[in-house]
Amino acid sequence: MALIDSHGRTINYVRLAITDRCNLRCTYCMPQSGIDFVSRDDLLSYEEMLRLLKVFKSLDVSKLRITGGEPLVRKGILEFLEEIKAQQIMDGFYLTTNATTTLSHVERLVNAGLKSVNISLDTLDRQKFIDITKRDQLDNVLASMNAFYQSDVRIKINMVVTKGSNEADIVPMAQLAEHRNIQVRFLEEMPFNGLNEMKTQFMTHHDILEKLKTSLPNLTSKPFEHGSTSQNYTVEGWKGDVGIIASYSRTFCGSCNRLRVTPTGQMKTCLYGKNDLDLRGLLRDGSSDEEITQAIKHAVANKPVDGIAAERSRFSTISESMATIGG
Ligand code: SAM
Ligand code: SF4
Repeated sequence: MALIDSHGRTINYVRLAITDRCNLRCTYCMPQSGIDFVSRDDLLSYEEMLRLLKVFKSLDVSKLRITGGEPLVRKGILEFLEEIKAQQIMDGFYLTTNATTTLSHVERLVNAGLKSVNISLDTLDRQKFIDITKRDQLDNVLASMNAFYQSDVRIKINMVVTKGSNEADIVPMAQLAEHRNIQVRFLEEMPFNGLNEMKTQFMTHHDILEKLKTSLPNLTSKPFEHGSTSQNYTVEGWKGDVGIIASYSRTFCGSCNRLRVTPTGQMKTCLYGKNDLDLRGLLRDGSSDEEITQAIKHAVANKPVDGIAAERSRFSTISESMATIGG
């Protein structure tokens, strides 16, 4: 029983943010202090998440991404992932992580079904890493990245390009893909910094492409893949490739196939939109799986056509941190 929205898009991908907590404080994502993290009781429990994933499976949702906050900081995450595998709920999972604490868990993650990892990394310069994340963790991230690479896990690096901060790192970051079969992706900064502050100037996907082309003139565009958020490019002679995600310009919504579940169990049919369905409420008020299924189908049917329409449909301006949505 597939989930299809009223714009004809099949929704088969769920992004599950399992915590809003994080061991870093990336400036574009959350303030350095004064954050009201969600209390444990307000988070979905692992049992609730397993039940929900079974409901999604029955709706032909086959792709699962685990995100956060930083997913690895929630106690019990590895056992949760192993349980998904043991119960054969999903055919593996994808992970988005800052990779600061993954080094000792690579083997266990792979054995639990890790298909591909997105590592968030915005610079290769140690001091700039500290400036952006407020923590001295670059060495751990690079060591984890190497360990994932040795394990043959598909790696994508996500770099948020922030005007006035790491523009000069775009080309050195791209060069990570020169000798390794990895994809380095550049994201437009979005206004989800938890500060209720809209920046007036962003590096757009056009700006990022121009910056890349100045050093890599033979960058060649690949055909756009349905369901992808990135426009990808190859460079002759490189093992890996690069991608640009127009996350603020929102050029890719037409082939959107995803849903988000926040750490408190709110379902969002669009990153930029409001919370569309209180799944936690349903899970805790005695609703049956069939009732939850119908509620999900109803919410999906009303998925906004794109992120611009979704933002217009909000009751308020964007003020939340990306850590409460999962990216
Ligand atoms: N902590 C993990 C990490 O950083 O990979 C997972 C959660 S994080 C919220 C998910 C993704 O959102 C990361 O790739 C991060 O770079 C991205 N992100 C966070 N805030 C953003 C913003 N304001 N604009 C664009 N991307 C953002
Ligand atoms: Fe943490 Fe990820 Fe947000 Fe950085 S982007 S503060 S690593 S949740």
